Amino acid sequence: MNKSREQKTDAGKPEWLMAEAEHYCSAQGTQLTSLRRLVLETLIKARGPVKAYDLLEVLRELGHRLTPSTVYRILDFFLRGGLVHKVNALNAYVACRCEPQAHRHGPVILVCPDCRTTTEINDRHLNESIFERLGVLGFKIKTVSVEVRGVCPKCAKV
Ligand SMILES: [Zn+2]
Ligand SMILES: [Zn+2]
Repeated sequence: MNKSREQKTDAGKPEWLMAEAEHYCSAQGTQLTSLRRLVLETLIKARGPVKAYDLLEVLRELGHRLTPSTVYRILDFFLRGGLVHKVNALNAYVACRCEPQAHRHGPVILVCPDCRTTTEINDRHLNESIFERLGVLGFKIKTVSVEVRGVCPKCAKV
C-alpha cells in the first residue's frame, strides 16, 4: 500500500470533525448539544472503534448516565452525517478519519479483527468506480460503506 496515503489518513485531525459537526447540526436545523459533543469527543479520543455499551460505560464514568436508546439516537444522528461510521465487523462505531472535503463520499474501512483496529482510507478512484459500475446497472446509490477484513501490518509481523 502507498505509504504516503497511509500516513495522510492516519493523521486525520479531530479538530475539523468537531467543526464539521457544528456545520452539520446547523444544516439540520439543530444544535451540537453538549451530549452530542461528548459522544463525538469520546469516539475521537478512543482512536479506534467503540461498542455502544462501552461508550455508555465511558460516559457513565464521566458522570453521564444515559440510556442505550439515547446513545443510539446520537450515534444514528452522526452516522447519517458521515461523521461517525459503523464498523459492522466489530459491531462498533468509529469517528471519521478522512479528510474534511472527502468524507461524504463514503468510507472504505480496513478492519483487523485480531487487534480490533480500523484504518479508514479515502480513495476517490475506488469510490468513483463503485458509482460508475453500479450506475451502469441502473442502481441508484445513496451511500457507500465498504468494509474490508484482513490482518493489519502490526499483526502480520507477529
Ligand atoms: Zn469517514
Ligand atoms: Zn491488527
